[in-house]
Amino acid sequence: MKYNISFHPTTKSNLDAVDFNNIPFGETFSDHMFVADYRNGAWQDLRIEPFGPITMSPANITLHYGQSIFEGMKAFKNQNGMPVLFRPEMHAQRLNASAARMCMPDVPEDLFLQGLNELIGIDHAWIPTTPNSSLYVRPFMFGTQEKIGVKPSSSYKFMIFTAPVGPYYDKPIKLIAANKYVRAVPGGVGEAKAAGNYAAGLLPTQEAHDAGFDQIMWTDNRNYQQIQECGTMNIFFIIGDTVVTPETNGAILKGITRNTLLHLLRDKGIKVEERAITINELVEAHAAGTLKDVFGAGTAAVIAPVSEISYYENKDDANYKTLKLPAIESRDISKNLKKELHEIRTGLRPDPHNWVHEVAVRDVAAV
Ligand SMILES: *Cc1c(COP(=O)(O)O)cnc(C)c1O
Repeated sequence: MKYNISFHPTTKSNLDAVDFNNIPFGETFSDHMFVADYRNGAWQDLRIEPFGPITMSPANITLHYGQSIFEGMKAFKNQNGMPVLFRPEMHAQRLNASAARMCMPDVPEDLFLQGLNELIGIDHAWIPTTPNSSLYVRPFMFGTQEKIGVKPSSSYKFMIFTAPVGPYYDKPIKLIAANKYVRAVPGGVGEAKAAGNYAAGLLPTQEAHDAGFDQIMWTDNRNYQQIQECGTMNIFFIIGDTVVTPETNGAILKGITRNTLLHLLRDKGIKVEERAITINELVEAHAAGTLKDVFGAGTAAVIAPVSEISYYENKDDANYKTLKLPAIESRDISKNLKKELHEIRTGLRPDPHNWVHEVAVRDVAAV
């Protein structure tokens, strides 16, 4: 279905003010945003307008009860200078999976994709072409009803804005296994990209930072042994010649990067296992010299190599032990994966799974 999206161009572009060689992550925003309002059971007033503040009542239901979900994806320019999106339909589907869990309305996939394509088509000049840079795309939805009461909102906003970004992590990360806090449990909301999950992770992450680590390696809530994710990324291990990643069991975010890497690995005939993996297994593999690589995977960092993992042997131990991981230079599989993914996205390599979608550029001046 084709939707009617109105366009209200900005009168003053901020593009000239941006230094594309030095972009702080997530603090610079492109000229326009897509907005749709859900009222009386339907999405309406579809529009692209200048990026800017939105007003709301202090009694906005989301501020109090947290009906808020988001997506994160990236736009690039390919070899021909055309904007491209990577697996955008997967993001539309996951937004709707998150929406269902949070009792929010579905955003029709066609609406998500059309709004996204038109926005990128208008603000295509904001896509950085400097190495490892991209246009970060943030679709999100939240309840807008003015009401004090724990009930699903009767109205919502779905919006998309974009932000040019440089490289996310510049050095390998140090993880500390959680032994006190949990991110998610099966049956909870960890599988949804729901705002509250990230608020819940702030204190544990801050404590980890204070102790000298970059990210938490999240574990299960029963004995803190079963590994889930690291920070806000999925986690991968290479043990011997097998790539292992925790199976999605309701407590793990179904990362699109995770899914993509699993495809690429299987295409190459590399052995892949989605299964439960414990800290004990890592300790044993490390001792045997078979723990070859550990990395986080997610849209922002793509692949973030892990340099060491610290863990508490027993939940209540005062001191941790540390597994030092092999030199980054030795990690051919993950290095190649990152390169391959970059090449597929920019058109330097064939795209057999039809993951890359070119965006039609819109001549803003002509509107
Ligand atoms: C978004 C996210 C990921 C990664 O998902 P991608 O689709 O690969 O970006 C992993 N874990 C958590 C908790 C996340 O929020």
